[in-house]
Amino acid sequence: MTSTYDAIILGAGHNGLILQAYLGKAGMKTIALERRAVAGGGLSTIEDSRLPGFLHNTHAFFLRAITAMPWYADLALERNGTQLIEPELNVALITGDGRALEWWTDIGKTIDSFAAFSLRDAATLRRWHDEFVPIVAQMLAPEARSPPLPPEERRALLSRTSAGRRLLTVSALSPLEFVEQEFEHPTIKAGLLFFNGLREVDLRLPGFGHHIAVLLASPAKAQMARGGSAALARALEAAVREAGGEIRLNTEPERIVVEGGRAVGIETRDGELIRAKHVVASSLNPHQTFLDLLDEDLLPREMRERAQRFRYNLLAPLFAMHLNLSEPPRYSASADHPELARAFMVILGLDHVDRFADIVRHHEAGTIPPTVMWGACPTLFDASQAPARRHTAFMWEKLPYRVHGDAENWDRLRDEHARAMFKLWQAHAPNLADAILGSFARTPLDTERDLPNKPSRRQHHRASRL
Ligand SMILES: Cc1cc2nc3c(=O)[nH]c(=O)nc-3n(C[C@H](O)[C@H](O)[C@H](O)COP(=O)(O)OP(=O)(O)OC[C@H]3O[C@@H](n4cnc5c(N)ncnc54)[C@H](O)[C@@H]3O)c2cc1C
Repeated sequence: MTSTYDAIILGAGHNGLILQAYLGKAGMKTIALERRAVAGGGLSTIEDSRLPGFLHNTHAFFLRAITAMPWYADLALERNGTQLIEPELNVALITGDGRALEWWTDIGKTIDSFAAFSLRDAATLRRWHDEFVPIVAQMLAPEARSPPLPPEERRALLSRTSAGRRLLTVSALSPLEFVEQEFEHPTIKAGLLFFNGLREVDLRLPGFGHHIAVLLASPAKAQMARGGSAALARALEAAVREAGGEIRLNTEPERIVVEGGRAVGIETRDGELIRAKHVVASSLNPHQTFLDLLDEDLLPREMRERAQRFRYNLLAPLFAMHLNLSEPPRYSASADHPELARAFMVILGLDHVDRFADIVRHHEAGTIPPTVMWGACPTLFDASQAPARRHTAFMWEKLPYRVHGDAENWDRLRDEHARAMFKLWQAHAPNLADAILGSFARTPLDTERDLPNKPSRRQHHRASRL
């Protein structure tokens, strides 16, 4: 059986769906092929099967700056029911001795919080923020919305202005070098590297030194979707369908069909041939796309080697612990910081910048580092994610994919590690012991089972973010 479309998209995660909606709006007849029974990829919200009404976001939850994305407006997602919530106390790092380093949507309040740790660092924060606001607005934001320039052309262009030269100089550093060079307080360094660094890129990588300053200067902060992350996926699906697109679930490609040096279609695992007149696009990872789905002799050797060399962020894999609760976590640190009752992202176990060296060392060795974790209580901001007067909360921790040399070990270690995380959580929020109604944990191996494009037995899973 053969069918023909203008465009075929592999994978119906948010990137695939957004592309498909745009192509549909441009008048193309499109189809997305998705291996799972539901579209949305990392925008996934599940209901606890043992306790109905408790919703848990099993992948992406902190959705950065979604309302500032051009596609959010272009695809009229609010018309399809999307609502993003951006809590004011966006991030709080709670230290072992009950202090709180806070990032607010209001930079003035963030600077005040930094000042309680170090006046010098608070002044440094203000300086970088003020310097990078125009760099983000005039250079990086427009750049992110345009086709990338060849590196030499970009460098030449940036070298023409003092702000551009500044950006080039700072970005030559790694995030770690940037923070060590600019800030003095160990908790501030740790917080910046964690919230503004580690979650996004490998903090040892040169070329990302500007990353922290950019995130500090960026107007849009972490957001969450009302109803759960899957609500955003449903709105994207609706946008695709409105534009005439088709999403074929439970369908996997066997190979990309190439004729005359062009990708012209997909053969599915069921033997169906789907032809594309104009576009075959893949949102799968480079190994799947270029090595698994394309015959070896069809790809120029150089491209094949680049796909083989593609490396995933060592520190990307996550372990997640999810709780059903009768009340939200009440942190002991709230005694001095009552605002913590409305904190969105909470970071625990990270008092000192030296923790990063530990985390990296353990990831390289495949062993479990001392617990540093971060998470949220979504129901503080969106009651629809649990039954009335009930709550959900979760914590994530970066842990090695191949634990003790083999990812399969996670099935044995899951419960033990969840208990260790809960112990730290409860040390900060003693009410959890009585508030807990149920829990479950998901390991880096569970993520791979769920979304095979993310991790890989060849490598670690990828770190691209929404
Ligand atoms: C535990 C966890 C927590 C995360 N938290 C955050 C967060 O808080 N904030 C954030 O911004 N990001 C987060 N991320 C990352 C985020 O989920 C990804 O950046 C995002 O999902 C990437 O979107 P995508 O559309 O490119 O790929 P995906 O969302 O992975 O979508 C790809 C789609 O392709 C499908 N697919 C895979 N293989 C095939 C195949 N062979 N054939 C057909 N279909 C296939 C998959 O089923 C999936 O639906 C998290 C990831 C994980 C694992």
